[in-house]
Amino acid sequence: MKESIKHMSAYQAELPAETVKAKYGLQYLARLSANESVYGPTPKVAQAIKATPDDILGYYPDGQATALREAVAKHDQVAPESLVFGVGADELIQLLTRTVLTPGSNIIVPDPTFGEYAMHAQIEQADTKRVPVQPTTGQLDFEAMLAEVDDKTTMVWLANPNNPTGVFEKRADILTFLDKLPKSVVLVVDEAYYDFVSEPDATVARDVENYENLVVLRTLSKAYGLANLRVGYGIIQEPLYGVMQAVRLPYNLNTYQIVGGTAAIEDQDYLNQVVRKVIEERTAFQTFLFENQFTFYESQTNFIWIKVGDTKKYGARLLSEGYQVNDRLNAEWIRIALGTPKDNRGMQQVLLALKKS
Ligand SMILES: *Cc1c(COP(=O)(O)O)cnc(C)c1O
Repeated sequence: MKESIKHMSAYQAELPAETVKAKYGLQYLARLSANESVYGPTPKVAQAIKATPDDILGYYPDGQATALREAVAKHDQVAPESLVFGVGADELIQLLTRTVLTPGSNIIVPDPTFGEYAMHAQIEQADTKRVPVQPTTGQLDFEAMLAEVDDKTTMVWLANPNNPTGVFEKRADILTFLDKLPKSVVLVVDEAYYDFVSEPDATVARDVENYENLVVLRTLSKAYGLANLRVGYGIIQEPLYGVMQAVRLPYNLNTYQIVGGTAAIEDQDYLNQVVRKVIEERTAFQTFLFENQFTFYESQTNFIWIKVGDTKKYGARLLSEGYQVNDRLNAEWIRIALGTPKDNRGMQQVLLALKKS
């Protein structure tokens, strides 16, 4: 076994809702710990999957995911032959790491950020350099990240907006940073929450064609409400594109993923409705936090990162009221995904009661 991973512990995946309810004796449970969508996907996804004839089951799926490729290319205005699909964006993170990192190389990530980047680096025996975000705003410290680049640096990972902070960085700032990076360093911009950004000009997807070392990731797990279908993709230029296509498993997406993902992308009216509701709730929640003097970062996502002090106390109390949030990322900050309007009002009452106690 590789020495570097001998003591690695398994990802703490979410328990099924029924298990959590039974364990804590709950009648009601809103799972708001994994940034899933409380609105779910467009009904057109299930319709498309159910309309798929059973006789496809004995044959391998379309290894190029052609229908999905064309739908995504059209919607994102990128070349179809710049798209690599994966079993969630998670698979792209794994594949990129596997393709680019060598033992002894290093990656640079903000702190805090999504844990998968460092986890896969560790599997490839590469080191992770963590650069703290700016304490008051949660914005990235691009200068400090640049200062960490050395001759062993092969990747920089940014989630934009970042998870768990929810903080968004402007396209111009990312491109300025990219221009200062050596061409040998791959910059991955993970846009898992892109759909929730209310600021204009929020993506670097269409800049990929101008930078061989820029990769953009997207997923259908968040705004599209399809966390269970496991569909994500990367927008990648040659020569990395060809290598990624060669490294990935030939039939990684099955027909239901292709058909369902295509139906989701094609129903932008539904997506826009979901996003509108999330932004409305986000604005209201942040107004509440501001008026009650909570410390939090301004979010452009479907979740909010809040400094509460004793996260375990807050997490346990919220759970006892039926709101499962993420209290295991940091000792002082909790991450709360936005729920239904009723969930959100309910959580606010709990937060207020705890603050005053
Ligand atoms: C949720 C999330 C992902 C994983 O998405 P999947 O497509 O479900 O694998 C990737 N990156 C970030 C930043 C996320 O928050």
